[in-house]
Amino acid sequence: MTPFIKITREWRNHQNSHKSVVLWFTGLSGAGKSTIAHSVEEKLYQQGCKTFVLDGDNVRHGLSGDLGFSDEDRKENLRRIGEVSKFFIEAGTITLTAFISPFRDDRERVRSLMPHGDFLEIYVDCSIEVCESRDVKGLYKRARAGEVKEFTGISAPYELPEKPELVVNTDQQTLEESVESVIQLLIERDIIQRV
Ligand code: ADP
Repeated sequence: MTPFIKITREWRNHQNSHKSVVLWFTGLSGAGKSTIAHSVEEKLYQQGCKTFVLDGDNVRHGLSGDLGFSDEDRKENLRRIGEVSKFFIEAGTITLTAFISPFRDDRERVRSLMPHGDFLEIYVDCSIEVCESRDVKGLYKRARAGEVKEFTGISAPYELPEKPELVVNTDQQTLEESVESVIQLLIERDIIQRV
């Protein structure tokens, strides 16, 4: 007989009173992935849910600090984020990731790492014109000036999700509406209880 009881994901989910999942936000730079992910997290946190946001700020400096922005490195970056997300799901955490993740194959590869239903792809849809007018980090300006190579939407492609679990349109909806539709998705998928 083993001297311990193995704590499973199901037990953690039971203790937390919610299930765990990864909400994978994808879309152009400035579309609103990070803003929506953090706003959804805030709402979930206030309800006592276990949550964590993975985004460029916390991943690129540490876990993927050795990687650049070549196709190979971007692919490896997403693979690592996918593997880390799997741990978070096992740990009972609703995990929100905010990466452009422009290539369909890369996103599908991450989806295939996880059991069916654990990966919810959310396409943050926003026209390039609106993203560029926001230019949160000044990157569009630099990309137009040729200072940033292979910039998604300007000099590199963004492949539209074929069957995302949810689309939010941030050039038409308010932030509150987008956040609410993500919360509704979690309720529909039986991840959280009605709030
Ligand atoms: P991304 O993570 O996709 O690069 P960010 O979340 O960093 O984008 O930036 C999006 C910017 O757009 C923020 O400054 C945010 O305040 C603004 N914004 C304006 N309208 C919306 C909306 N409806 N949803 C999300 N963000 C919005």
